[in-house]
Amino acid sequence: MTSIYWEPELETLSRNDLQKLQVERLKKTLGFAGESSFYKSKLQECGISADDIKCVEDIRKLPFTTKQDLRDHFPYGFLSLDKKEIIRLHSSSGTTGNPTVIYHNRHDIASWANLMARSLYTAGVRDTDVFQNICGYGLFTGGLGFQYGIERLGCLSIPAGAGNSLRQIKLMQDYGTTVAHAIPSYLGRLYEVFESMNLDPAKDTKLHTLVIGAEPHTDEQRRRIEDMYGVKAYNSFGLSEMNGPGVAFECTYQDGLHIWEDAYIVEIVDPETLEPVPDGEVGELVMTTLDRQANPLIRYRTRDLTRIIPGDCACGRSHRRLDRITGRSDDMFIIKGCNVFPMQIEKVLLKVPEVGSDYLITLDRQNDNDEMIVEVEVKKDWFRGDITRLDKLTKQITHQIRDEVLAKPIVKLVEPGAIPKTEGKAVRVKDLRKRS
Ligand code: AMP
Ligand code: ZN
Repeated sequence: MTSIYWEPELETLSRNDLQKLQVERLKKTLGFAGESSFYKSKLQECGISADDIKCVEDIRKLPFTTKQDLRDHFPYGFLSLDKKEIIRLHSSSGTTGNPTVIYHNRHDIASWANLMARSLYTAGVRDTDVFQNICGYGLFTGGLGFQYGIERLGCLSIPAGAGNSLRQIKLMQDYGTTVAHAIPSYLGRLYEVFESMNLDPAKDTKLHTLVIGAEPHTDEQRRRIEDMYGVKAYNSFGLSEMNGPGVAFECTYQDGLHIWEDAYIVEIVDPETLEPVPDGEVGELVMTTLDRQANPLIRYRTRDLTRIIPGDCACGRSHRRLDRITGRSDDMFIIKGCNVFPMQIEKVLLKVPEVGSDYLITLDRQNDNDEMIVEVEVKKDWFRGDITRLDKLTKQITHQIRDEVLAKPIVKLVEPGAIPKTEGKAVRVKDLRKRS
């Protein structure tokens, strides 16, 4: 019988043994980190060395690392090895200020590929699958991160890249793609192209699994994608500072994302006080790498807000589960005195069956008054409906959003495709107030 685990022993290690492994690996990580100029002085400042680490909780004696630190010490301040050992870098776009860059040696790339393979295996992907990776290759980690994992697992990989929906559909049909990875906002657009070709992805492709991630989405959005494509869709979480994808992944029970605790120490802290919050409570995710040599990161503040799901998973893996990301400690906006997370608005919109696949929140200021304009694409046949129907729907959505976020939006229904599309992740909020 084949196992449901990629690495049975590691994935089901007792909590006690898992913590022992974490302590051992944290000590090693501190050794590597101490070779970088940034951590060398940080560790000296706080006076903690590997010898002071006796249990996982001792990590709290160490300082946090922030994105700003990475930027300030660009390009080599976090590098722990000689440059000749490095075989790859990934970096963020960095439109403002320095980019954030992460370096990898051979060990790091192999470890990441294995975590990715483990993640995919956990979601039920097998070496018999044909895997289409619909995602940008290059500096963004989703392309090569998945690619190496797919190959490590042994699937037939199709490195399709992002965009060009007609080609994506042709690839799916030509090679009988069974699994695809894409960002959730793209899958809505791709579905519209299927529809315009009079194709039904549930019937006219061999897809059985989708892997979706890299941007926040709700469970409702996932279920919608599953219905559209007639597949199971699994949530994949990662961030470039922690390699990229392969950090936390849903298993086939779809009840939270197992975060690989042999490779990362996970803390959830109150973003204000930076004190740990109990399991089950939402806070900011803080992560430490445990199996990275070239560019270890200690207590990295991800700014993602989530919680540990208490209790065991039915799949038997001992690695704890993260809940889906509910927002960021830095993406909340305040409108008319109300704190709003874009996710709350998305949740309302996804419950409205007439709503299509895209929306855009624009925050603006008119005569010193804050405005929240929510443009919402409605489905094609609906947009052609008469004015009274559209008017009624506008009012309904306005009320629902106001009830949810307590601020009244200006809702504008627009036709499918009216909201400008971006190449990568969907832009959900435009804050024009910052210019005034
Ligand atoms: P990047 O480093 O550009 O890959 O962006 C990483 C960020 O994307 C994370 O810190 C999260 O805010 C977001 N992200 C990645 N995966 C997910 C996911 N599955 N759900 C929600 N947000 C995600
Ligand atoms: Zn599980």
